[in-house]
Formats: sequence, structure tokens, C-alpha cells
Amino acid sequence: MVNYFGIIKQIKEYADQNNVPIMVEEGISYLTNYIIKNDVREVLEIGTAIGYSAILMALASPNVSITSIERDEKRYLEALKNIKKLELEDRIQLIYKDALDVQLEDKFDLIFIDAAKAQNIKFFEKFEKNLLPNGTIITDNMNFHGLVHQKEEEIKSKNLRALVRKVKEYIEFLHKNEKYTTEILDIGDGLAISRPKNQNNIV
Ligand code: SAH
Ligand code: MG
Repeated sequence: MVNYFGIIKQIKEYADQNNVPIMVEEGISYLTNYIIKNDVREVLEIGTAIGYSAILMALASPNVSITSIERDEKRYLEALKNIKKLELEDRIQLIYKDALDVQLEDKFDLIFIDAAKAQNIKFFEKFEKNLLPNGTIITDNMNFHGLVHQKEEEIKSKNLRALVRKVKEYIEFLHKNEKYTTEILDIGDGLAISRPKNQNNIV
């Protein structure tokens, strides 16, 4: 018997100790509920880290298969190990590569973007061709740890200020995008829910 609860607790502890920015509880709940309610079958995740969100999405429903991309070797190896421990290797396929160098032909019901925040527009534009007509693109960290709502001059680090600006640019890109309708939800660290216009699976 696999001790799911124990292993997931260990993954969270590892993330905590090694500063791996895994999704917060509230965001994960939204994703897993979304998967169940919409009977999602195929998920593409950009940014595996150590496999935490991929694992919880896979555990949400036995019908779900996940392809997840990670460019950091140490995290990729840790994710592989975690997925094996939970015996999910049949349903979670990992790709160890920079997502911008990955070519996929498959189509997905859900594309979950949770990687380098400055590259969100590139990820969106690269993988939208892989979205099924009734699919959804969900992007994490639209609040960027609360910093998106803070005054710019209060953010001390120049690097952080640039990243916050990138997140704001991405939000603007989504709102201006004529092919998609986007809702930004104040759930977890902020989730952008983007659906192609004219689709009929309003939830
Ligand atoms: N989704 C994970 C957390 C991902 S953290 C969870 O909630 O459990 C973001 C990850 O994206 C990091 O591990 C980082 O190495 C990876 N990443 C950033 N830019 C990337 C890129 N261009 N291609 C692939 N992985 C990337
Ligand atoms: Mg995130």
C-alpha cells in the first residue's frame, strides 16, 4: 500500500526546506476541483518543480494524465523520485527541458502555466496551439506573492520590481487577447483562467 498522505507531507517538507515555490493549498484545491468538475483528461504543466502539483492533479481523478516540463535537473530528478514513490509513472510524464525548446503535437484540456513569470506570454503563445477547443489555460502567481498589489516604489529589489512588471504585462496581454476571455481569481497566489471565446463549457 502506498502511504499517500505521508509521502505528500514529505514532498511539502522538502519544498519548504529547499525553497521550492510549490502551489499554495487554496490554488491546488481550485485546480483539483476544476479537474473533477470538468472531467479533465489531459493536462500540460509548464514548471514541474518537484512534482507536487502534478501529483495532486493526478490524484484528483484516475482519468487524468499529465505531461509536465521542468528545466532544472535537481528538481526534475526529485520529481521523478516522488512520482515513482506514488506509483504514478503511468499517468505523469516528465520532460526534462526548457519549455521554450519543447515541441508537442498532443492536445490538452488544461494547460497549467507555473514556471518563470517573465516568460508567461511566450509560454502562452507557444502552447495555445496544443489546447483543445473546449480547454482552459490556467496561470499561477498572478498576485506574485502579493507584490502585484503593492506600490512599485515600495518594492526594494530591482529584480522583483521587473518581475512584478512582467506579471502585470501578462495580465494586460490576457485581457487584450481577442481570442480568449480571462478571469483573474484571487485564489491562492492569484490564478488567471483563460478560455477561448465562443466555447460552450461555461462552469
Ligand atoms: N508547479 C509546481 C511549482 C513550479 S515552480 C508546483 O506547484 O508543485 C516553477 C518551476 O518552473 C521551477 O522549478 C523552474 O525550474 C521551472 N521553470 C522555470 N522556467 C522554466 C522553463 N522555461 N522551462 C521549464 N521549466 C521552467
Ligand atoms: Mg506557482
